[in-house]
Amino acid sequence: MKNPPWSRDEHIITLSFYLKHTPNIPGKKSEEIRELSRILNLLQKYIGGDIPDGFRNENGVYMKLMNFRRLDPAYKGVGLVNGNKDEEVVWNLYASTPEKLYDLSQRILSFTNSVLLQKKLPDLNDDEIESNEGQLLSRIHRYYERDANLTKKKKERFFSQNNALYCECCGFNFAEIYGEHGKGFIECHHTKPLSELKAESITKISELVLLCANCHRMIHRHKPWLSIEELKEKIMIKNNK
Ligand SMILES: [Zn+2]
Ligand SMILES: [Zn+2]
Repeated sequence: MKNPPWSRDEHIITLSFYLKHTPNIPGKKSEEIRELSRILNLLQKYIGGDIPDGFRNENGVYMKLMNFRRLDPAYKGVGLVNGNKDEEVVWNLYASTPEKLYDLSQRILSFTNSVLLQKKLPDLNDDEIESNEGQLLSRIHRYYERDANLTKKKKERFFSQNNALYCECCGFNFAEIYGEHGKGFIECHHTKPLSELKAESITKISELVLLCANCHRMIHRHKPWLSIEELKEKIMIKNNK
């Protein structure tokens, strides 16, 4: 079984390690590298499923750190050439703001100890894309907005205030278009930025918005995910709900 390509989550955690230690990257046989390898294996359990033999072993992890080195202008040698494309993307996104990256990396890792992960996290739809913050947080987002209890409360509250359920972005109302068949149908979207998710935080109803299926897909279609305001601005035909 072949090792799967490195995920965004793994790049975030490994670049965070790199920036913390550079220019003194611990040796291949060090305790720190062993620990990094252990963490990446743990993470894989939640985002990738099967773990092939030798997955992210000390060697592989060390090589990845050398791949990052090739992107580091502070390093005077050449580092390892032939890296993967996402390395560079992650470098460009976060290398200039290491504090932001440590924080994100800690947030991802906080979920690996969370009871939440004893459940199976929902997958994203085929035409949706994981956000810049990686797969684990993207799927946690999906988990929150599918939470039956929470979405039921949100819909009830919205209905009691507006006497209808409609998309908070474009105004689409399923009952209006599909009649009885569409009654009660609408999706929920969790508005909290992924970079602020924490394993211990409790999702509030005020963090959910109602969206029609189209608007919801459009939000999750590109990196970074759009905010509600950004999506509203893209809608060509304005309506006056
Ligand atoms: Zn809509
Ligand atoms: Zn969503």
